Amino acid sequence: MTESNQILNDGVFILQCGVQCSSWGKKGEDSMVALLLKNNPSFVLDKDQNYAELWMGSHPSFPSVVRNEKGSIPLADLIKSDSSKTLGVNVAAKFNGELPYLFKVLSIDKALSIQAHPCKQLAEKLFREQPHIYKDPNHKPEMAIAITKFEALCGFRPVEEILSFFKEVKELLPIVGQSAVDNLISAEMASDKRVKQSAVQHALKEVITCLMKCDEKVIEHQLSSLVARLEDCHKNGESTAPYLGHLLLRTHKQFPGDIGCFFVYFLNHLVLEPYEAIFFQPNVPHAYLVGDIVECMASSDNVVRLGLTPKFKDVDLLLQMLDCMPQTLESTKFTPYVSAEDPSVCVYNPPVDDFSVKKIQIDRGTLFYKLMPIDGPSILLVLSGSGEFTYNTGCTNFSRGTVIFISCNENVQLVNISPNEDVLLFQAYCDMQPLE
Ligand SMILES: [Zn+2]
Repeated sequence: MTESNQILNDGVFILQCGVQCSSWGKKGEDSMVALLLKNNPSFVLDKDQNYAELWMGSHPSFPSVVRNEKGSIPLADLIKSDSSKTLGVNVAAKFNGELPYLFKVLSIDKALSIQAHPCKQLAEKLFREQPHIYKDPNHKPEMAIAITKFEALCGFRPVEEILSFFKEVKELLPIVGQSAVDNLISAEMASDKRVKQSAVQHALKEVITCLMKCDEKVIEHQLSSLVARLEDCHKNGESTAPYLGHLLLRTHKQFPGDIGCFFVYFLNHLVLEPYEAIFFQPNVPHAYLVGDIVECMASSDNVVRLGLTPKFKDVDLLLQMLDCMPQTLESTKFTPYVSAEDPSVCVYNPPVDDFSVKKIQIDRGTLFYKLMPIDGPSILLVLSGSGEFTYNTGCTNFSRGTVIFISCNENVQLVNISPNEDVLLFQAYCDMQPLE
């Protein structure tokens, strides 16, 4: 018998997950990623290392590995060796025998690039024409669930807000030019709702085009004069709230002279409390700023960047694809619902087939808990709590940082749950159920 056959007798597998360290990650024990790894006997915590990402899934960049006393095998190989058992027949057929999603934990100390992800159709075209930059033909819907206080930029602000920044932040006008701003003002004044919607998007795209095509020297000059002005205000004890002083200065400190700094005046600034979430639609610009999150996305790496990055920016493509529909701050948040069958379960079910996420919070003092079986593959992460998982063919201890892959329709129970800690689990899954 081969190793994979032996391991495959089970339906539940402990995963060893890939860790990515990047300069934007939180350091040492400040990082949730590092805290989740701490119970792993082979992990040695380096207090000066930036632990940025934990990857749970089969993506080739950082593939998870299944290891037990019978041997070791990459999760992708294990799934492929019997995809109708691991994924279930429906998911295997729809997603070519592969795990459709990638599950991550991110600990962010410094802003990640402002970006947008192409829709499926555009992703296929980009992959065909520029495979060296766009590495797969898949779309990348993604969802971020805060696990500590989390800040992000997402979607264009309502036009009134953007126009008010043009009044307050005098450095913006020379970059964008009066005519583009005038066009935005008249678009906003259109009385017919449908005319207004399309005129606003068109005018906003013009404003962003002027910003993105502005000479780098002009950007740097205007930015340094704005920064000097805000620093003076802080020295003199004056409020910089109308200019988003703290946000602008913090961003500029991380990316001095970067065009992305000006985007704080164009994109909604979200501050999420733990378990609040955002779902990113295709072509909507966004950036993660600071905090710890659980993230789930279609298994893809397709990113088009706008700013806050030294990496390649494809400005023309970006301007062509960008969704310039303004959104209110509230509408950018994604609302989960409490499961009707089990009030300890909160479901984050985005409008895509590729994935959903459950948050499972078990009351302290509960000694036994049965997970709802799922008609598809799932990955379960233990954020807190300890005890034992039992399933058809065996059992395994769990504690903070344990990650398991659960095959389609496998029954899993939590037993001997420690009464001293709350149990908090996140479960990414794909079950091909119609949307509720
Ligand atoms: Zn993204």
